[in-house]
Amino acid sequence: MNILVINCGSSSLKYQLIDSESENVLAKGLAERIGIEGSVLTHSPAGKDKFTRQEPMPDHSVAVRMVIEALTDKEHGVISSLSEIGAVGHRVVHGGEKFDHAVLINDSVMKDIEELSSLAPLHNPANLIGIRACAENMPGVPQAAVFDTAFHQTMPKKAYMYGLPYEFYEKYKIRRYGFHGTSHDYVSARAAEILGKDRKDLKIIVCHLGNGGSISAVDHGKCVDTSMGLTPLEGLIMGTRSGDMDPAVFDFICEKENLSPAEMNTVLNKKSGVLGLSGGLSSDFRDLCDAADNGNELAAMTLDTYCYRVAKYIGSYIMAMQGVDIIALTAGIGENSYGVRTRLMPYFKYLGVSYDEEKLKIRGEELVLSDPGSKVTVMIVPTNEELAIARQTLELL
Ligand code: ADP
Repeated sequence: MNILVINCGSSSLKYQLIDSESENVLAKGLAERIGIEGSVLTHSPAGKDKFTRQEPMPDHSVAVRMVIEALTDKEHGVISSLSEIGAVGHRVVHGGEKFDHAVLINDSVMKDIEELSSLAPLHNPANLIGIRACAENMPGVPQAAVFDTAFHQTMPKKAYMYGLPYEFYEKYKIRRYGFHGTSHDYVSARAAEILGKDRKDLKIIVCHLGNGGSISAVDHGKCVDTSMGLTPLEGLIMGTRSGDMDPAVFDFICEKENLSPAEMNTVLNKKSGVLGLSGGLSSDFRDLCDAADNGNELAAMTLDTYCYRVAKYIGSYIMAMQGVDIIALTAGIGENSYGVRTRLMPYFKYLGVSYDEEKLKIRGEELVLSDPGSKVTVMIVPTNEELAIARQTLELL
């Protein structure tokens, strides 16, 4: 069966059509600037040339219609008709405490996703728009919601509560939820599989290091802690997000710089992280590593600070799980960045990890970085959230 995987943002829609039997990607693409002037659809069919269509997309329903047209196009398409799409799997950001696994979408699920919008005001409404747009264009095709938070719902209360008045949890469900759950789930399972083991027998730390970044502790197959919180702002230093800091900084900067809370929120989400720390140099690790290699001290300090934070989280999760068998690195930076690996790997020597420096240069493939016989296995496991969503959608059917 072919499953259409959709990741819908407020003005964009990413998609992949996956054959669930072979798990091959038949086509993927991106509709951008939906509802804004200059809308464009980029469609990449497997084994054929990429093609772009620049045409107004006033709303997501039009975008979905154009995606279907591209998928079924005589020249650029990969299927002959809509009937070859068996189901749609949606990435939905916030499932709150309600959803600890993926579900088939019906009216009541849509209502729940809507109600959870207060916890993810930028994401859940956009996800819902995508669901409605697919329902309009593909009536009768089953749709599934795969939540970014679901995998982390096994965290014990001691890991998800903040040290705040308890009434805020009772009244507003203020607690840590975690994100990137689909990736943490996929990577921890795949890491065990690569080693020929079952994740139920292992203690695994997954480091999802992309533009957004989070770390999770997966103890015998269950997530017991993760670094993102109520929102994706908590935890690691990210591309443009600050990660952990003293909450008092918020007020201090607002007052000194005459910023409103909303403006300060933008600073913490969009202007901080490695972009801010490097004095505005870049949020991209390729630029930062090049600059550091060429003697830029601010870039070197930024990379050192980033890696130190990652190492500290790993250290705390080893204590939380009372041990670790596998440390798995994934996402854009985790899968590729030599500059980050050279700064991060030395921290693992304390765990009895030895490694060959040359191996750290290999990029973008499944790879064990630590030497055989190391007490802890450090490995690269490229993530594949779309495949994980397709698998979960198929399972629900
Ligand atoms: P997201 O999905 O959160 O947008 P990704 O997982 O795609 O992010 O990661 C994007 C980041 O990965 C980029 O900002 C860049 O810093 C890093 N990256 C990608 N390719 C490389 C590479 N070849 N070397 C170093 N860093 C890379």
